[in-house]
Parts: sequence; C-alpha cells; structure tokens
Amino acid sequence: MEIQSIARSFVDLFFPRRCVGCQSVIPGSSILCTECTSKLPFTHLKFDQENESYQKLRNQCNIESACSLLYFEHDNITQKLMHHLKYENHPEIGILLADKIFSMVKFESYDGIIPVPIHKNKLKKRGYNQVMPFADRISELGNIPLIDNYLFRKENNSSQVHKSRIERTNSIQNAFEVQGQISGHYLLIDDVLTTGSTISTCVKLIQSKNPVKISVLTMAFAI
Ligand SMILES: [Zn+2]
Repeated sequence: MEIQSIARSFVDLFFPRRCVGCQSVIPGSSILCTECTSKLPFTHLKFDQENESYQKLRNQCNIESACSLLYFEHDNITQKLMHHLKYENHPEIGILLADKIFSMVKFESYDGIIPVPIHKNKLKKRGYNQVMPFADRISELGNIPLIDNYLFRKENNSSQVHKSRIERTNSIQNAFEVQGQISGHYLLIDDVLTTGSTISTCVKLIQSKNPVKISVLTMAFAI
C-alpha cells in the first residue's frame, strides 16, 4: 500500500465522507449516496420558451431561451448542494451537475459561455466562483469557448441582506461592467435562478454594449 493511500484510508477512517443530502457515510470521492442521487429534483426542462425559467425572465429581459437543471427549495437537496458548492469548497458538485445536464439536454453551438461573475473579494475568500466548475465543464463537454474576461462584478454586494428590495435592485443594476466586444449567441450561466434580477441585469448590460443573442442556463431554479 502506498503512503498516499494509507494516509487516505486514515483520513477516511476518522473523517469519513458524508452524503451532502442525508449525511450517511459514502465511499471515496462521492458527493451523494445512491438514494439521494435517485431523488434529485430534476426540472426536466429543455432550452425553449415554454418552460418556467424562460417565463420567469421573459418580462425582465430579452433572451432566446432558458433552462435550469434542478428545483431549489428551502432545505431540499438542491439547496444543500448549492451551499456545499458555494461555501464548503466542493467544486466537484458543479462538475457533477454539468455532466448531468449535458446528458439530459441538447446544447446549441453557442459562440461562448459567459459565467455570472462574483466580486474579487468573494473570490479571494471562497477560492473560486461557484459558477465556474459548472461553466467550465459545460465548455469542455460542448466545445464552447469560456469567456471569463468580458463580464465583471465591480461592487461587493455582501451587505445585501440589510437593504430594502428597491435598494437591492439598484445596487445589482450597478454591480456589473463589461470589457471588450463580442458578437453572436452566448450562453449566460448562473447558479440559482431566484427572482431573475441578477441575470436580467447582466443580459441588459451586455445587450446595451453589444447586440448579441443570449440564452440562460442555471444549475437550479428557485420555486
Ligand atoms: Zn444521501
């Protein structure tokens, strides 16, 4: 037995990996146990203009189509996955979800993928943008260029919770900037589609600078 695998067995013995959904002990590098995997609340949406994701965004911005992979509800498995992806250093959750959606949904040949960015202070704290592992894997699987040097977050919105709804909307509207020129059809990717204000702000900003087509993909859809 090599030293590395002995060390791993030792860690597994005292700090066993637990399922993000139900906390049961699971083998190796898994994220979910078999039962939680079988219970993932898939939306079964496709990229089109009939679905819930598109309906939520249609009155806020001009997009071609939209799609989300999982339903997000308070305390459900999707919320736990998103929490672990965002705050507990589990980028592999993004990769897992990208693999799932790529096996379920047909992707067009987009000119690029634009991930919704986080502020550099949050990036420093978390180590990565929670959208990136997912966006990066979609880019790899679909052979679509990842455009991560175009849309930037210029304001840190960490104190959002203390603001009123109007203050929050205003602050989101000023939170992004774009640099450079793009043309064609782009896939904008975010973690959770909640009210749609972040995504629609990004769409409107991009289209005010460059007349491009935009479709939207999120890992989760808040019911
Ligand atoms: Zn489980």
